[in-house]
Amino acid sequence: MKTPESTELLEALLTGAAPIYHPNTGEKIPEDGELTVTLSPSARAGLEAPRYCQICGRRIVVQIRPDGWDAICSRHGAVDSKYLER
Ligand SMILES: [Zn+2]
Repeated sequence: MKTPESTELLEALLTGAAPIYHPNTGEKIPEDGELTVTLSPSARAGLEAPRYCQICGRRIVVQIRPDGWDAICSRHGAVDSKYLER
């Protein structure tokens, strides 16, 4: 699979842009921000690799590595967890 050249997803994560779709559930986030699903504690803490693109809600391709993960949305580009570490 070809890696898309877009960095939109990475930029959204780095700038803390409000997600449109929930990265763990793929649910469209309602205006009031209340999710209808219950997340696992690690997902709530932001420790889990995303499964859905927060911009378009597509399922993303995730690879878990011993030191983190990388995720690719076919439209919005790749994210590596190493970029998100502080
Ligand atoms: Zn996307």
